[in-house]
Amino acid sequence: MAPDIEKTDEEWREELTPEQYEVLRRQGTERAFTGDYVYNHDTGMYRCAGCGADLFSSETKFESGSGWPSFYEPAVAANVEVHEDRSHGMVRTEVRCKRCGGHLGHVFPDGPNPTGLRYCINSCALDFDKVK
Ligand code: FE
Repeated sequence: MAPDIEKTDEEWREELTPEQYEVLRRQGTERAFTGDYVYNHDTGMYRCAGCGADLFSSETKFESGSGWPSFYEPAVAANVEVHEDRSHGMVRTEVRCKRCGGHLGHVFPDGPNPTGLRYCINSCALDFDKVK
């Protein structure tokens, strides 16, 4: 399904930082343990850095040891979508923001209860709204 927000590649390039563009629009991956939110334990909402959609709540964040922010479920299921990703010689499940189509990361079946899922998400694909 086409995303709700459609911008040209040029518009995304202008709006996003180079790192955000590489991840959100080019399916890149930030280096492990380098993102702003890997060890963030504040309470709040992680929104899409591309379009502001609510994606993940701090309540579902857990320490995976992977070097990327990890969540066991999306805050709003309708705001994310998954696609099979066969790049880099692996079969993985890519996670995208449904509203803007931005690449967020991947989801793996080795997460904790209650879902058993690990949404492994690039920090730079997220903007954190802290609850005071
Ligand atoms: Fe988005």
